[in-house]
Amino acid sequence: MDICPKCGLPLQACVCEEITKTEQRIHIGKEKKKFGKIVTIVSGFQGVDMKAIAKDLKNDLACGGTVKENTVELQGDHSRMVKRSLVKLGFSEDLIDTGQ
Ligand SMILES: [Zn+2]
Repeated sequence: MDICPKCGLPLQACVCEEITKTEQRIHIGKEKKKFGKIVTIVSGFQGVDMKAIAKDLKNDLACGGTVKENTVELQGDHSRMVKRSLVKLGFSEDLIDTGQ
């Protein structure tokens, strides 16, 4: 059985990642790419499973996207919707900075 190095509990019982999620400040931004394409940049993640987050966001927003280090780039302008998706995933609404 795998044990969490942080709290010593079996990984199934560990809530470190859930707690980490509620404590981090997430920034939502937009960027214009080549050919006028807009991408939504979600950054500020620390100590969370980036692949899982990206997958959940892509599913929730029905869009494509990629992970770059601690940033998720989503295709299209999802700056309004992504906050709600992040809250659904366990992030604190108060700590999500939409830059608006
Ligand atoms: Zn833990």
